[in-house]
Amino acid sequence: MEKRELGKTGLKVSAVGFGASPLGHVFGDVPLSVAIAAVRRALDLGINFFDTSPYYGGTVSETVLGQCFKAIGVPRDQIIVSTKCGRYREGFDFSAERVTRSIDESLTRLGLDYVDILHCHDIEFVSLDQIVNETIPALQKIKEKGKARFIGITGLPLNIYTYVLDWVPPGSIDVILSYCHFGINDSTLVDLIPYLKSKGAGVISASPLAMGLLTDSGPPAWHPASDELKSACKLAAEHCRKKGKQITKIAMQYSLLNKDISTVLVGMNSPTQVEENVAAALELSSSGIDKELLNELENILGPVKNQTWPSGIQQS
Ligand code: NAD
Repeated sequence: MEKRELGKTGLKVSAVGFGASPLGHVFGDVPLSVAIAAVRRALDLGINFFDTSPYYGGTVSETVLGQCFKAIGVPRDQIIVSTKCGRYREGFDFSAERVTRSIDESLTRLGLDYVDILHCHDIEFVSLDQIVNETIPALQKIKEKGKARFIGITGLPLNIYTYVLDWVPPGSIDVILSYCHFGINDSTLVDLIPYLKSKGAGVISASPLAMGLLTDSGPPAWHPASDELKSACKLAAEHCRKKGKQITKIAMQYSLLNKDISTVLVGMNSPTQVEENVAAALELSSSGIDKELLNELENILGPVKNQTWPSGIQQS
C-alpha cells in the first residue's frame, strides 16, 4: 500500500485510510468479531491510518476501534489514529472545557495514551470565531500535554477552511479533513488545494463513495443528498452493474488520483470491503483507471456534478 506524506506532520499515511464510522453501526450493525477481522485485514494489507469520532454511533465507533486494537495487539507506532471533538450525540460543544474533557474520554475508549490527530468535528455548526478563539487554543494545550500530536478541522462547506486558516496563528492547524468533495460526482476540493498547501495544512479527503451514494446498496436513510443526486448516483451504479463492473472500485480509484490528497478515508465494515478497496488502489497503481467507464459515469453524473447539500449555520 502506497504511503503519502501528510502535510508537514512527518506522518506517512496509507493512501487508503480506514474510516471507522461504520464500526459505530451508522450504516447497519457490525458484530465485534467482524469489526476485528476488518481492522486486522486492513493492517495486514498495509492500511495504517484509522479515523473515528465520539460522535459515530454515540461513542460506539471509538469503543469498538479500541477493542479491535486491543484484540489484535497492534504496536502503537504502527498505526496513525485520528479522532475528533466538539460533536456528540447530544449536540455540539466546542467549549475549551468540553474538548479538554473529550480527549481524555476518547483516549480511554480507544485504549491509547495519545492520538496522532485531534480534529474539531464539523465546525460549520457553530460560530467559527469560537473555533478560532477558544477551541484551537484549547487543542494547542492538549497538544502540549502530548495527548494529541497534531490538530485538524473538519466539515462539509469548503469556505470554513479558508475562514479558520486565515484567522488562526500560522502553523496552529496541521491538517484538514474534507468529505464528499473529491469523488466522481463532486471534485470541488481540488480548487482549494493550492490554498491549503500555502498554509502548510495536510489534506485528508473522506467519503469517496459519497457516504454510500456510489455503492450498489445505495445510501442510508439519513443521507442528506437531494433526490436528484440520489437518482443520478443510482443510475451510475446500475450502469456499472450492466457492464459487469463495480461502482465502488472506480469511485475509490478516482478519489486516489490526486496525490496532493494524502489519504482517502473510506468507511469499511468487513474484511471483504477492505480487500476490495485495497485491490482497487493496487490496480490503479498498476493499470490506471478505466477511462471509458469514467467518461460514461461523468456523463451520467454531469447534471448533478458538484451538487452538494446545506450543512451548518449561517456564519455572521
Ligand atoms: P464512504 O463514502 O466511505 O462510504 C461508506 C459506505 O460504503 C459504508 O456503507 C461502507 O460499508 C460502504 N463500502 C465501503 N467499501 C465498500 C465496498 N468495497 N463495496 C460496497 N460498499 C462499500 O463514507 P463514510 O464512511 O461516511 O466516510 C469515510 C470515513 O471518513 C468515515 O468513516 C469517517 O471516518 C470519515 N468522515 C469524516 C467526516 C467528518 O469528519 N465530518 C465526514 C464524513 C466521513
